[in-house]
Amino acid sequence: MSTPNDHTPVPKAAATPARTAISAACTAAGYIAVSLLASATAGAADTVWESLFPPAAAVAVCWAGYRWNRERREQQRRESELRALMTMASHDLKSPLATATAHLEMLRQDHAEGLGDDAGQQLSGMERALGRINRLVEDLLCYAAAEQAPMDLRPVALSDLIADVIADHAGDGSCVTVDGPSPSVVADPELLRHVLDNLIGNAIKYTPTGVRARVVVAVRAASGGALRVEVADRGIGIPEADRPKVFDAFHRSANSGAYRGTGLGLAICRRIVERHGGRIGVDENPGGGSRFWFTLPQPAPSGPAAPAMAATASAAVK
Ligand code: ADP
Repeated sequence: MSTPNDHTPVPKAAATPARTAISAACTAAGYIAVSLLASATAGAADTVWESLFPPAAAVAVCWAGYRWNRERREQQRRESELRALMTMASHDLKSPLATATAHLEMLRQDHAEGLGDDAGQQLSGMERALGRINRLVEDLLCYAAAEQAPMDLRPVALSDLIADVIADHAGDGSCVTVDGPSPSVVADPELLRHVLDNLIGNAIKYTPTGVRARVVVAVRAASGGALRVEVADRGIGIPEADRPKVFDAFHRSANSGAYRGTGLGLAICRRIVERHGGRIGVDENPGGGSRFWFTLPQPAPSGPAAPAMAATASAAVK
């Protein structure tokens, strides 16, 4: 049981007659109840912590809480400014990039005959560099959209979606199979497609050159009525130390230097999965390779959508 000054969090539901009596005695002795409020959604605050303090300590705790809150808001403001700046810069870069790419193409077409080997190689280098910048800009915009775009939640036939994504990768010379049937899920179809496309695309990409990529997609039931989607490959694998970090923006694992990438794809996936109220992770695939997984909480059959999946409208990551 918490005493008046051990400051142990007291969940509201845990109120017992003994605790109520202690609380009344402390209040009579001049102790002040201090609550920590947190809001999971804008405009709604829940009590997450409550304790009794002597007056001087209560003032100190309130002052510390006030300062912490002020700093947190300031940090949120700076982060949102940075995000807006990044999105604006990425948008603004798109047009000059497209112009530069178009000029290079014209140069190639108009002077195809006169270009020597050296000039041709230099043009190829410029094209590759522009391609990389273009991919980075697209990924940055996608990263911002994965957080901000309103969600359009509706029933999605997961098996059709998986089949579609696999068909998109059919030309990669890979072998992607589905293990077992896939039920319908409630999700944003465009966002979910993006996650599947990224995981399957990575599974193929991170397979050594000359080796046929073998990927297995499976959907299983997870605890609490959630669904767990797994994408397993026999590729280069991810060193254990890198596994928790590959979902951070721009993190590329130590063994992936030979493969092109921006290090943003999995960070985008994590944002999307978390916006659906799920979790994403990666394990070693027994026998070699990686096994990526993510969960999708599902609303109770007759009930409303799960809280984390509630507020919706329409749009998607492009
Ligand atoms: P990108 O592929 O553009 O670098 P991602 O965010 O998709 O960015 O992936 C982050 C890193 O995780 C990759 O750079 C790579 O090191 C590692 N990775 C992702 N998927 C796989 C996979 N299937 N097998 C091995 N490594 C992977």
